[in-house]
Amino acid sequence: MTITTKGHELSTAVEQAAQLFFDVHSDLEVESVVENGLASARVSKDGLTGMGSWPVPETPDKKALSNSVKKAVLLACKEISDMPTPWGISTGIRPAKLARLLLEEGKTPAEAAAELENEYWIEPDRARLCIDVAQKEQKIIGMAGEKAVSLYVGIPFCPTRCAYCSFISQALTHNNKFLLPYVDACEREIRRCGEISAELGLKPVSAYFGGGTPTAIPAELLERLIKTLKSSFDMSELRELTVEAGRPDTLTPEMMSMLRKNGIRRISINPQSMHQSTLDAIGRRHSPEDVERAFALARREGMEIINADLILGLPGEDVNMLSETLDRITALGPDTVTVHTMYLKRAARLRDDFEKLRFARNVNEMMELCRRRMSEYGAEPYYMYKQKNTLGNLENVSFAKPGAECLYNVYIMEEVHSIFAMGGGASTKLVRGDRIERIFNPKEAGDYVNRIDGILAKKDYILEFLK
Ligand code: SF4
Repeated sequence: MTITTKGHELSTAVEQAAQLFFDVHSDLEVESVVENGLASARVSKDGLTGMGSWPVPETPDKKALSNSVKKAVLLACKEISDMPTPWGISTGIRPAKLARLLLEEGKTPAEAAAELENEYWIEPDRARLCIDVAQKEQKIIGMAGEKAVSLYVGIPFCPTRCAYCSFISQALTHNNKFLLPYVDACEREIRRCGEISAELGLKPVSAYFGGGTPTAIPAELLERLIKTLKSSFDMSELRELTVEAGRPDTLTPEMMSMLRKNGIRRISINPQSMHQSTLDAIGRRHSPEDVERAFALARREGMEIINADLILGLPGEDVNMLSETLDRITALGPDTVTVHTMYLKRAARLRDDFEKLRFARNVNEMMELCRRRMSEYGAEPYYMYKQKNTLGNLENVSFAKPGAECLYNVYIMEEVHSIFAMGGGASTKLVRGDRIERIFNPKEAGDYVNRIDGILAKKDYILEFLK
């Protein structure tokens, strides 16, 4: 993508709007001009040219100017692409935060929805979804006090690597040599963060073991990390401790009983699809029956809250297949269901099919089916986010039965308090008023192990920032 600008320097806004339609690595040319109170755009690709323009407010702030620039680019792109844009020019990953801030400014839900539609061109049903989610989130945010912090521990290992994965995870079979050193290093980081948390008088309210697949590592190693976390922080106000057990083939009776023994009440078992052909195609290496067995085992062991993740738009899947997946999953009685729209990053092995997949027409119908079926199931949307390069520019949304909402998901998405993140690929998010800063850990397990001393040294900045 080649971008030229004249009369402004908002090339990131131009790129974000163009990326709603085209891959950033495509041979698209975009010219964006602001002059005489008008933002205009010209886009060219494969011999086709589109033009668009939109007025700039008389004395625009940066956001208003950016919105006008994005609208002009969007209109130009629409002339040469029929990619749907249900979220209009809202290119951020947190549209519900946008809605929540409007509500907190004192706008009524109807006024906030109207602003999302008029200012951001968000389609009415998505604007309503934002408001619904924002209202649910407000209640969850209200549960956390001033000294709240949330914790994340990343375990970047999986049994095998899924074809669509662009996380930092590595197939465990190739990385056994890092496993023990990884756990040792991670324990050191957890203890250091615990000391800092105590010095700041912080009290964790939610904690999450993610990855990767934390349950891919041996139960005794995961137990070490859980115990270290619990003994390093003041857990007197902890309301939730979640372990991502995404791959059902990792949930052995030994693992499940270790989790329950250590007080884990919430896990995520992620079927993605209940069709063997799809699971084979995406390299999941487990069966739909493994998912059913994992649910039965988890319930038998007394696991109270189970989330199930699904992906819409997986290769070869249509609406009927999704409907069958929903039948089988709801029969298992998950407490929350998180629906992701297929997205593709360059690193993913399915990248070659990007353009074809991205235009999947039935994915919007799939999302509608999910929303309808979840409503019938008694689960309501409570958390959502958007990613770049999703099929049909659709969102990811989680539905919860009343009281089963995952607090951590809301806290990380809404950026209302700091998240201390430990482990490979983890990124700590420091929140102080309107200021947000991040500290990134190395992504690869080996790098993380080798650089742990430097990682610990960087933690001192948390004290500096939050004191
Ligand atoms: S289970 Fe998740 S993190 Fe692991 S390889 Fe598959 S998509 Fe990636």
